[in-house]
Parts: sequence; C-alpha cells; structure tokens
Amino acid sequence: MEINLLPVLNYDGRKMVISEDVEISASPNDNFKFNTPVHFEGYALNIGGTIELKGSATASISIMCDRCIEFYDENISYDIFERYKKEDNISDTDSDDITPLEGSVIDLDDILYMGLILNLPSKSLCSDDCKGLCPVCGANLNHSDCNCSDDNTDPRFDILDKLL
Ligand SMILES: [Zn+2]
Ligand SMILES: [Zn+2]
Repeated sequence: MEINLLPVLNYDGRKMVISEDVEISASPNDNFKFNTPVHFEGYALNIGGTIELKGSATASISIMCDRCIEFYDENISYDIFERYKKEDNISDTDSDDITPLEGSVIDLDDILYMGLILNLPSKSLCSDDCKGLCPVCGANLNHSDCNCSDDNTDPRFDILDKLL
C-alpha cells in the first residue's frame, strides 16, 4: 500500500494520521505466514523538514515451532519508526537513518514487512513445554510417544538386572 506524504511534505509541524490494514504476503523462504492483514496505527509528522513515520503494527501470524516444526498462531506487535527527507534537502550532516524521498510516496507494505522481520521472536515455540521431535524416528512427541526410548535403556540397568 502506498502512502502519499504530500499533505505534510512541505509543511513544518503538520501531522497526518495513518490507520490502515495492509495485506502482506510472506516470502516463500519465510518460516511464517500472515493470518491477518497487518494493522498499522500511527502518524507522519513533519519536524523541520524531516518526516517522522511513527506508530505500532499488529498482526496474527502462523509461525513454525523451532522444536516440533509445526505451525502455530502468534499475535505479534511491533513499533515502526522511520525518518524521511526530500532527496534534494538531504545534507552531509543528516544522519544515515534518514531515507531520501524521491517523490512523496512511501511503500507501507515494505516498511511493515521489514519491521516484522526485525521483530520476529528469536525463539519460536508452540508452547513452553513443547516436547519436540524424537531425534531417532522424527515423531512429534506432543502427539504420541514413540517406542524409540525403549531401545535406549541405560546399560547400567542391564548390569543391575544381571546381579539380581
Ligand atoms: Zn512445538
Ligand atoms: Zn522415536
């Protein structure tokens, strides 16, 4: 979704409220999918010629569990803060995090997608006590116990058995 910053672009101190639901597709390489559009609630504000885009984004995503590799739903929310300046007005003293603006349009899809990627949980677990997969047969131990552990009894018990 494109947002046209024209209403605030040339007016110091002017603010425009942005409240949008943005339909975004995850890339095929991502370990998550979007269940809902990303809701963005925020504003663009002109501060001395620099446009600040600020707000919060929320979405429900379906993400792969690190342990059992099944998808589970997670509500995610994250902050957006970006700064823009008209390309012609950028000077050497401006900080690197200011994005030069060629026209007046920014792409909210990209901003929200990149924001999500940066804010994904470093560890995703379907539940804190997810049992994961059996390292031998690959069964999902949350759904069923496999029989592999029977074959891996501690050899010390064999000795005990013999003694008895
Ligand atoms: Zn899991
Ligand atoms: Zn197993």
